[in-house]
Amino acid sequence: MSLSNRLLNELSETLDVNLIERGWGFDINERKTVLGFCNPKDKTISLSLPYITVLPIEEIEETIRHELAHAFDFETRGRSDHSIHWKIWAMRCGAKPERCYKGKNKPNPKYVGVCPTCGNVRGTWYRKPRRNFYCAVCPRAYQNVSAYSKSVKLLIRENDIEHLL
Ligand SMILES: [Zn+2]
Ligand SMILES: [Zn+2]
Repeated sequence: MSLSNRLLNELSETLDVNLIERGWGFDINERKTVLGFCNPKDKTISLSLPYITVLPIEEIEETIRHELAHAFDFETRGRSDHSIHWKIWAMRCGAKPERCYKGKNKPNPKYVGVCPTCGNVRGTWYRKPRRNFYCAVCPRAYQNVSAYSKSVKLLIRENDIEHLL
């Protein structure tokens, strides 16, 4: 069972609001700057594929717990935000009761490398990298793109991923 479904099961049981029976689940999106978001209309927690493939597992788990807290908040209150109501759910879910990645809560790793051709995050670093890195996927996907060309040289920028909610 995936980490996301395991957490959904565990928290539904221990917190006594069965999100599974109420129709909640997960899906994957292709967003490049949003790690995860909670969609109450579809009862879906959506996780970003470009990020879940590169981020450390602790960051993914924190995101899932953060978004599950929004799901509990929606189910019990009919809406959600980052108020005290959500913070209480966040603590019950084992998430930091903080709106993530705003102001002082900078995400780890500190730097990401984005491929200018495919737009995906292809590397993450805790310190600014001193040499060049290249997308390993694009040269294989496109015949006219060579392995160490400028078009696949990763653009290093500060990690600005966030949660939409
Ligand atoms: Zn690429
Ligand atoms: Zn949030």
